[in-house]
Amino acid sequence: MQKTSMLIIGSGPAGYTAAVYGARAMLNPILAQGIQPGGQLTITTEVENWPGIQEIQGPDLMINLEDHAKKAGAKIVPDVINKLDLSKYPFVAHGDNDNKYEAESVVLATGAQANWLGLDSEQKYKGFGVSACATCDGFFFRGQVVTVIGGGNTAVEEALFLTNFATKVILIHRRESFRAEKILQERIFKNPKIEVKWNSIVKEIIGTDDPLGVEGIIIEDIKTKKVLSLPCKGVFVAIGHSPSNELVKDQLDTHQGGYILTQNNSTQTSIPGVFAAGDITDFKYRQAVTAAGMGCMAALEAERFISETKK
Ligand code: NDP
Repeated sequence: MQKTSMLIIGSGPAGYTAAVYGARAMLNPILAQGIQPGGQLTITTEVENWPGIQEIQGPDLMINLEDHAKKAGAKIVPDVINKLDLSKYPFVAHGDNDNKYEAESVVLATGAQANWLGLDSEQKYKGFGVSACATCDGFFFRGQVVTVIGGGNTAVEEALFLTNFATKVILIHRRESFRAEKILQERIFKNPKIEVKWNSIVKEIIGTDDPLGVEGIIIEDIKTKKVLSLPCKGVFVAIGHSPSNELVKDQLDTHQGGYILTQNNSTQTSIPGVFAAGDITDFKYRQAVTAAGMGCMAALEAERFISETKK
């Protein structure tokens, strides 16, 4: 059993920032990295809105944050926490290989994961032409036509990124305007390789069985009800994310479809000593920098909680 004043679960900007602050507050934090060390930023390309750095690759930013947390004195473990018992104090977490952690405070920073459309054909071709990560899989579509579904920053960035490989990128969005940042939208409209299909929903992904692979996508214009079949080899689904709350959804109060509920202007959850930071609680801003800010808040609040508990 490893004992710590602060167990941080998750290794995105929220987790690593909590680790830096926790280490500097002498809480000897342990940070369990989870299945995807570095989190969602490890599967993005350029990050252009991390203050102080005009442009950095997502994976590089996460390596910097991990280094910073280590140098501050946090213990970073490549462990996946698969059970967390918040019913008694100190809290107990179970990791892989029977690893156990006893913690006086817990910072939940497990982030969020990609949403899917929910079509059987999407499931069938996942990994065989259907993907939720252009930076991971875009390279396979060199010289091909691909489609991207969604209208947020992720969809727009993925469409732009895919123009590096594809001959044409068709961006399919269910409304008439994007919610992505204006500066990214401008790049879309200027790029001759990108075509936008507005007011369109995906009805089906079509393809072959042997070999398994995508050949096209069927969309419907929700205004005209016109159905179109678009030949393409890749389909990138970029329709938002859901909070990764499996460890705690039955133990903590949640809202807005599973996001961990925290007190106003605080990372304090419904159990004292348990704090939530970043995409697991933030359904509104969901930025790397806001996640980092919440990681800082969580560590400061954990420190205060522990010192008050010990009084
Ligand atoms: P968003 O929630 O911002 O956007 C999701 C998009 O998918 C919306 O356009 C939505 O449509 C559409 N959508 C949702 N469900 C469906 C569905 N079932 N069928 C079809 N379309 C659907 O998610 P993102 O992943 O794009 O971004 C998440 C957060 O991360 C945002 O805050 C974003 O700003 C941030 N981000 C920031 C980046 C950066 O700053 N560089 C890069 C990437 C993400 P509708 O608009 O109609 O709701």
